[in-house]
Amino acid sequence: MSNDSSLNHTSVLIVGAGPAGLSAAIALKKADPEAEVVVVDKAAGPGHHNLSGAVLEPEALHKLLDPVAPDWRESESAKKVLVSKVEKDDVLFLLGDGMAFNIMKLIHMAKGMGLAFGQMVHQGDYICSVAQLTAWLCDIAKSLGVEVLHGFAVEDILYDAATGTTSGVKLVDQGLDKERRPQINYTPGETVTADVIMIAEGCDGLLAEKFIERAALHRDAQQLYSVGVKELIRVSDEQYARFGDGHVVHAMGYPIWTPVIGPGMFGGGIMYAMGDNRIAVGMIVGLDWKYCDFNPQDALTRFKQHKFVQSFIEGGQVIEAGAKMIPEGGLRAVPRDPDTGAVGKGNVLLLGDSAGFVNMCKIKGLHNAIESGMAAARALIETRNEPTRAAQAYARQLEEAGVIAEMTTAENFRQTVAKFGPLQGMPLSVLGRWLPAFNIEPDWQTMTTARYRLKPSVKFDKDTFTAVAATEHREEEPCHLLILDETICVEKCLPKFGAPCITFCPAGVYEKIHDQPKPANPSNCLHCKTCQRKCPFDNIRWTVPEGSGGPRYKTM
Ligand code: SF4
Ligand code: SF4
Repeated sequence: MSNDSSLNHTSVLIVGAGPAGLSAAIALKKADPEAEVVVVDKAAGPGHHNLSGAVLEPEALHKLLDPVAPDWRESESAKKVLVSKVEKDDVLFLLGDGMAFNIMKLIHMAKGMGLAFGQMVHQGDYICSVAQLTAWLCDIAKSLGVEVLHGFAVEDILYDAATGTTSGVKLVDQGLDKERRPQINYTPGETVTADVIMIAEGCDGLLAEKFIERAALHRDAQQLYSVGVKELIRVSDEQYARFGDGHVVHAMGYPIWTPVIGPGMFGGGIMYAMGDNRIAVGMIVGLDWKYCDFNPQDALTRFKQHKFVQSFIEGGQVIEAGAKMIPEGGLRAVPRDPDTGAVGKGNVLLLGDSAGFVNMCKIKGLHNAIESGMAAARALIETRNEPTRAAQAYARQLEEAGVIAEMTTAENFRQTVAKFGPLQGMPLSVLGRWLPAFNIEPDWQTMTTARYRLKPSVKFDKDTFTAVAATEHREEEPCHLLILDETICVEKCLPKFGAPCITFCPAGVYEKIHDQPKPANPSNCLHCKTCQRKCPFDNIRWTVPEGSGGPRYKTM
């Protein structure tokens, strides 16, 4: 496939070179070395758009790699990517900026009682960087003969509603100027046809959402999102030794929610030992926050200032940073064909975060992303001569792989917390499936004029954050962030909420220019999609920029 041919075809096209898409490619090539498998990804290089905590449950990775390379555990790549096994696993409840209570015993008790909360035990899991994991899986896929093409951004899916069939995808035009006029280097985005298409773009993917809408896939519940902001901090020998290799900390409470006085948001902080004197520090916040002046980076700052966290990172240097959304709605928010129950339709399959396979009781989705990739590969082998049955076979393979059963254990968790708030919702969620199915409004509708009371005194430095995310786009390309109606910004949003996009965008993309909020710095965009889901008037659309634009994560 090249940019100068007008039409190309492959038997299997995977959109998105993340853990789900690459696992599908690896499993498929292993099962059928003759299969023609092409993976396209909008990032400039392997792993550049992949960010996660990350703590990875090992079984799915073992299942994927054992048949491919039985001695993979001894390889230098594995030792580098899978930083260490979790040896010290703490869950803290933070009260104010000084007190921390370790509630890990409660989590173990919950596990013993079979409660969903007990899934938060991470002992024995791998600590890893998902950017490095992805780059490694990319090498393995290529070694098996998979064609992995970076810098290829997909903007549309060729779905025919009359016949219910999908023939391919269209890549983004390259070389337009800001007014969409062709420049000397203009290359129209080519059409790529395929017998089967796997959509594995990650959370809130443009192609996935277009397909869900056009193919009329159904979600039983609204998808809910959170955004994670994360920094990789190099600390001193003494600090790192005190924190310890193999140590992971998950923290709830302050500064996201506190009893009685608030605030009352869902989320929490993380600290993971990443080796080489590096600690990953992050904050994940549910997008259903109500504070119009809230920025998750403010919560990250407060978290870093907490006495416990500060003792390990004070004086450290932020060497990398980034932001990404997480699909939190669980099983009821997974899109399905209403006729067949398939997670996809006909010859189109939705994988990993594109489907929403994140278990919020575990705070994990990576293992399900890998499992869904392997399930998709098995489905394709099974329906080799009948690609239009692939999605149905995939639904059954997901069941057999245990993905659906696991997701069922956390089925109502996030909706319960959204309905009752973290203080009442977290304990209530132990009732799981016995609770009624709550209808939760989309995240963008939850904004109020309330203010976040714990704003740090110093403004978060978004410029440095963006610089270490190494994000870049061609300055002359059309702006990929569309404000649908600019009068809403001025007449409704500014007077009522003060233009929250300017505050919450982690990359400082939005600014007020002559009193008009605008995406003034689109080249800073981290592709987190928060603005598309949190603008209180649902007035922003994130479209795909030219291939190779965006962050260049190395160890996120
Ligand atoms: Fe408000 Fe959305 Fe306009 Fe930003 S884009 S000012 S959040 S309406
Ligand atoms: Fe995220 Fe939107 Fe800001 Fe880009 S512009 S970094 S997608 S919030």
